[in-house]
Order: sequence, then structure tokens, then C-alpha cells
Amino acid sequence: VIQICLPLNALGFLFREARDAQTHLETLRQLLAWPPEVQDSPQAQPLPVSHGEVVFEHVDFSYEPGRQVLWDVSFRIAAGQTLAVVGGSGSGKSTLARLLLRVYDPQQGRVLVDGTDIRTATLASLRQAVGIVPQDSSLFNDSVAYNIAYGRPGAGMADIVQAAQAAQIDALIRTLPQQYDTPVGERGMKLSGGEKQRIAIARAFLKNAPVMILDEATSALDTRSEKAIQVQLDRLSAQRTTLVIAHRLSTIVDADQILVLDKGRIVEQGRHDELLAQRGLYAQLWELQLQKQEFDRAERRLLRQS
Ligand code: ATP
Repeated sequence: VIQICLPLNALGFLFREARDAQTHLETLRQLLAWPPEVQDSPQAQPLPVSHGEVVFEHVDFSYEPGRQVLWDVSFRIAAGQTLAVVGGSGSGKSTLARLLLRVYDPQQGRVLVDGTDIRTATLASLRQAVGIVPQDSSLFNDSVAYNIAYGRPGAGMADIVQAAQAAQIDALIRTLPQQYDTPVGERGMKLSGGEKQRIAIARAFLKNAPVMILDEATSALDTRSEKAIQVQLDRLSAQRTTLVIAHRLSTIVDADQILVLDKGRIVEQGRHDELLAQRGLYAQLWELQLQKQEFDRAERRLLRQS
């Protein structure tokens, strides 16, 4: 038995190590675009950021030849404002975020931050200026403090706690066995989806980037958690230029501008009321969202009763 169990144990260990490495690799890949799709040009300069205006100018993009994903996409997010992008699955919403983070470069057109074509800036300075709260935040197998400080390496404990307070996760962290030193992730304390998202929000508060990408979760959190998280996200996007990949009704209604994507093309653009009045694709998507919300509510009621 020992002869069989030992190798099996070792295999289990190796499997966990490999899965862990995979998480790191995925995060690195997202953050550093590795293997590098794009690299600093030899003349790259730090991005001069003043207020964080974001402009997409006639952007065409394909991941692979012959399959164009974005067609002539142009929009401007004035400094401090929020743009919500809506559209069906595969319409190109996340691709906009990847281009703004310069995981890829467009084949045509330009992406500008405060008037600078981001291709001329160093990747490091661009990624300092643009923060992201992803849909599914994976945690490192490390302490809570490390996971928050990842937003700004070298941050002191006081700043980490302040960021956790802003994300309203400080009180929960203080109930953990080793508080900020508690290991989390696969091998540590398991946190719920909502708690992981708050850690990601704390990370983003700490990073304090002038431009923020919020990739809202589609998965249904319960209504109370969702509302609480929305409050944190609203605080995070206040005073910052924000691109939201929107799934929640409240974000869409309050956005300064909504972009409706259909198969990689902007088909409608405006504020919520204006778009509803057009009775086009946005009005249809809105109707679907309302129905989905009703459905989720009814489902939760049933679950509670059973
Ligand atoms: P969803 O709401 O489902 O997340 P989305 O609107 O964010 O969708 P994108 O992820 O931007 O859509 O994808 C746009 C298109 O590009 C889709 O057809 C998708 O299959 C394709 N695509 C996305 N990522 C890649 C990739 N790495 N390589 C090749 N094609 C990709």
C-alpha cells in the first residue's frame, strides 16, 4: 500500500504545484502579455498621464488572420467618466479591454491615453496607469496582505489596510485566524467569489490607477453581496476614467456613455434613456437583462424555500 500511496501522493503534490504554477502563469500572461504579443519599442517612453482620457480611433483588430473581431471602433472616454460596453457574447467587449492594456496591438487605428498612442509608451508605465478588476479574480497561494499588495509591490501595511477598508473587506480579514497573514488561495483559506472580488477591488484601490477597467461578473452573486460590491465598484470608478464591461443594470443606467457592440461593430452609442428611445439592439438587450434579473430573483426565492 505504501509503495502505491507514496507515488500517488507525490503525483498529487506535483499536480497541485503544476496547477499553482498555472494560476501564476495565467495572471502573468494577463498582466505581462507573456508570451509577448507586444513589446516595448526601442524608443518607448513612460506614458505621460495627466487626467486619464481614453480614446480609441478607428480600431480594427483580429486575433488571427481572416477573422476580424473589431471593425472601425472609435470612442472617447473623457477623464473621470464611465463608459459601459454592452453586447452579446463574443461581440468584442473583452477585446477592447485587452487592447487598452496593450495585451495586443490593433492592426489599424490607435489607442490613446491622454493623447499619447500607447504603442509609444513602455508597457510597465501603461500598466501602472491602467488598473483592472477582472471577472474571476484568482488568488495567489500567499497571504491576504500579499494578495492585496500585488497591486503596488512594496506597499506598506498601513496602505494595505486602508485599501482593504475601502473595499470593505478589512472587517472580515480581522476575523481570519492570522488576519492579514492568513494564507489564501487553493492551499489556504477558501474565500467566496464575492470575497475574492473584494480582494481584487482592494488591490485596485491600492494601485490607485487613473484609468480603470471593470469586468463585471456575470455569475449571480446573491443580491446583497452584489449590491455591496456595486457600491465598492462605484467608489473605485468615481473620479477615475472607467471602462466597464457591463452586465449589471445599475452600472449601465448610471454610465456617462454606453457603447453597444454587435459582432465587433459599434451599432449604438449614447446614454441609457437615449438608447432606450431608439428601440434598437440596446432596448432588446435591456429587456433581456430585466428578464434575466427577474429569473435570477425567482430562482433564488425557490432555492431559499427548498
Ligand atoms: P463574452 O461576453 O462572452 O465574454 P466578449 O464580447 O467579451 O464576449 P471577446 O472575448 O472580446 O467577446 O471575443 C470577441 C471574439 O474574439 C469572439 O469571437 C472570440 O471567440 C474571439 N477571441 C477572443 N479571444 C481570442 C483569442 N485569444 N484568440 C482568438 N480568438 C479570440
